[in-house]
Amino acid sequence: MIPIAKPYLTTEEAHAAYDTILTGWITQGPKVEEFERKFASYVGTKYAVALSNCTAALHLALIVAEIGSGDEVICPSLSYIATANAIRYVGATPIFAEVEPESYNLDPADTEKRITSKTSAILLVHQIGMPANIESFKNLCQKYNLKLIEDAACAAGSSYQNSKIGIHSDLVCFSFHPRKVITTGDGGMITTNRKDYEQRLKLLRQHGMSISDRERHQNSKIVFEDHLELAYNYRMTDIQAAVGIKQLEKLDWIVQERRKIAKIYHERLKELDFIRLPDEKEGYFSNYQSYSIYLKDNSPLTRNALMQQLLDHGIATRRGIMTSHRETAYKYLEGVNLPVSEDLQDNSILLPIYVPMTDREIDYVIDSILKSFKNISDKPVYTTNFQQPEL
Ligand SMILES: *Cc1c(COP(=O)(O)O)cnc(C)c1O
Repeated sequence: MIPIAKPYLTTEEAHAAYDTILTGWITQGPKVEEFERKFASYVGTKYAVALSNCTAALHLALIVAEIGSGDEVICPSLSYIATANAIRYVGATPIFAEVEPESYNLDPADTEKRITSKTSAILLVHQIGMPANIESFKNLCQKYNLKLIEDAACAAGSSYQNSKIGIHSDLVCFSFHPRKVITTGDGGMITTNRKDYEQRLKLLRQHGMSISDRERHQNSKIVFEDHLELAYNYRMTDIQAAVGIKQLEKLDWIVQERRKIAKIYHERLKELDFIRLPDEKEGYFSNYQSYSIYLKDNSPLTRNALMQQLLDHGIATRRGIMTSHRETAYKYLEGVNLPVSEDLQDNSILLPIYVPMTDREIDYVIDSILKSFKNISDKPVYTTNFQQPEL
């Protein structure tokens, strides 16, 4: 069975967790600080704040950006549902805008059309690791006086205009869920250059406590904490951070390996004129957190039929990125009209991509795709040479 994804974890990560457990300091402490310092340095920002997951990161980012009830925040529906949910957590209203069919990312022109006097922010997603058009959205935010928050859950290691995602605006949120490119089990991070944001985020993740456990622990005089505002427990543990530090060291290599796989998919599938492949434009650098193909109208197989054929070959795939507005939790929104997003969800497939993926595994997936199409059309597509790879 070829899986859709798997995390790249080694004995290094296991030993890091083991060693941390034996230090006796297991929740947020020195390893979290080290991970934050190293992540900020990797991205190129002054600060990084570690959190329990990216959904928590999005929630706190919206709070520090002072988004609340009465505000509208524009985001894509075509995203994991956590994007829109975070907007609802702060009492604001998600306004779904359309995406570009080639990049699966927010369309600047459609976004501009949806700006009203209540709009206070844009929550920009870098979908499946492909950077969105950040420059256009920065310009929109400047023109209409809006806050920009980036949902870079999938985009650790991606770059835009030669700089790492995380550096282009003041609140960029990352995920370390096992489906992302690097993992801490669960985990999240916000990068920022603003000291005031960094300090408030650190308060909000730790019950609003005026001093951290670590500061109290290191103090030679007794100190008592105050709880300064209503806050949360969104801490990352030191066990997770120790794993994250090892993962971060591998990030650029993992991205490089994923890009090699994406390149092979591209080279061998580009002849099929009924499939649209990911399109990485000049200045955009994807970590290929997922590899999505879109089946055009003239595809001889429907999306579901192809998924089934691949499953019959022992290959796991996933349907395209979800549309939040068609989920039950969003049924209360009436009259949402997002034909491009719906079409992308209904007609795209995520193919297996993980490190290490052997050449035989990649070839087997590609051959199986070609064979699936060949089976049902007379048009000779490719010569195929099937052998079940030894996994
Ligand atoms: C995965 C994902 C999230 C949620 O991240 P968690 O760390 O699981 O909370 C949010 N937004 C997008 C776009 C995602 O892909």
